[in-house]
Amino acid sequence: MTPKEVIQFAKENNVQMVDYKFLDFVGIWQHFTTPVSEFEEEVFEDGLGFDGSSIRGWQPIHNSDMAIVPDPSTAMIDPFVEMTTLSLICNIYDPITKEGYSRDPRFIAQKAEAYLKSTGIGDTAFIGPEPEFFVFEDVRYASSCNQSFYSVDTTEGIWNTGREEYPNLGYKPRHKEGYFPCAPTDSLVDLRNEMVQVLQSVGMRIEASHHEVATGGQCEIDMRFDSLVSMGDTLQWFKYIIKNVAVRNGKTVTFMPKPLFDDNGSGMHCHVSIWKDGENTFAGDGYAGLSKNALYFIGGIIKHAKALCAFTNPSTNSYKRLVPGFEAPVNLAYSGRNRSAALRIPTTSNPKSKRVEYRTPDPSSNGYLCFSAILMAGLDGIENKLDPGEPLDKDLYALPPEELADIPCVAGTLAEALEALKTDHDFLLKGDVFTEDVIEKWIEYKTEAEVNPVRMRPVPEEFALYYDC
Ligand code: GLN
Ligand code: MG
Ligand code: MG
Ligand code: MG
Repeated sequence: MTPKEVIQFAKENNVQMVDYKFLDFVGIWQHFTTPVSEFEEEVFEDGLGFDGSSIRGWQPIHNSDMAIVPDPSTAMIDPFVEMTTLSLICNIYDPITKEGYSRDPRFIAQKAEAYLKSTGIGDTAFIGPEPEFFVFEDVRYASSCNQSFYSVDTTEGIWNTGREEYPNLGYKPRHKEGYFPCAPTDSLVDLRNEMVQVLQSVGMRIEASHHEVATGGQCEIDMRFDSLVSMGDTLQWFKYIIKNVAVRNGKTVTFMPKPLFDDNGSGMHCHVSIWKDGENTFAGDGYAGLSKNALYFIGGIIKHAKALCAFTNPSTNSYKRLVPGFEAPVNLAYSGRNRSAALRIPTTSNPKSKRVEYRTPDPSSNGYLCFSAILMAGLDGIENKLDPGEPLDKDLYALPPEELADIPCVAGTLAEALEALKTDHDFLLKGDVFTEDVIEKWIEYKTEAEVNPVRMRPVPEEFALYYDC
């Protein structure tokens, strides 16, 4: 839609309010609302001012005036506001220079797309993320029995939610058997169906929905892939809708990567392919039907994976998921069909769907930054013809230590990922996609606001281990 068409759309739909949304540096959707009487075409040119110092990781107080400029192509009716509300996703501008703000993740993603075009390697990067999530009962509405509560049972090692167990009335999925028995063991069918309908109502194409492996209400709803910036927008709609449908059903959803000890965590596997002139450049006659460029792309991911983790696995909790035994990757190997490898080549005979699945990322990521960083690492691999080495078709969790020693690993902690990013980020700076300032601020913010407060806090397990010392 053009600005004029959006104004017309607002009239035709009897819109009462206009909601402006943008993704902050960390990855949480922000918004503010104006009555429709204030909605004029100029807003698409001049934008609207806000205080950039109150948004995490952005402007200092003495330089806090910023502007949002809505993108007319993102106009949508917000399904969760009672009064008919037009929703617009915005870019962030400096109100004086009128230039895009370098710490705006959406701007970074737009620059990543432009950089891809400028290399001539492709014109479109398609991204298909699979964000998994947990549905928990909201204790405010919980009835006396339900299946999502966890026991304080040290024999199973599941104590971590700290909630009392309600009577287990049966049909609770056995440990690691949530994928995929029918109802009543899967108690979330109706909830997921409702989520799917709302997702479709904002134009999203949904391919499938299912319970996931973890016992405690872990789910997955699969969206159709899209180009990078659009997928960044779509991921925010996705999280917004999933959380809000849960809340209106008296439940709560988390996308944190590892809420439960000793059970599968939530990943956000990212399927990637690069297209040029309507052709998939990843299809070829190399290993698993991949082209040379696809293999170099894998080489780039493997080379930069530790630094990449700072954006694909950007929370301290991310690293509780990246441990052996839970279908989350630890080793940076690639393989067809192997779900213990960080890079899987899904089996398909159709060249159009040939792609690389990078399994390391998790849904605590800022989508725009995560997808852009992956693309930049892969492009670096293509530009420098980085050999990904031999594929590994074995169960990597079961390899003896001698064999494992030669296979590189993902970062072990957020601190390690940030340390890697400090020295390995030139691949992100190409085309000014990420700037030095963005890298520095990211490391500073993540260290001070997340790594240190978590590192300095006593945790329940320490009481179990040391209280009697
Ligand atoms: N939950 C697993 C992860 O952490 C993935 C399980 C799956 O999709 N097969 O990545
Ligand atoms: Mg899946
Ligand atoms: Mg899954
Ligand atoms: Mg997958």
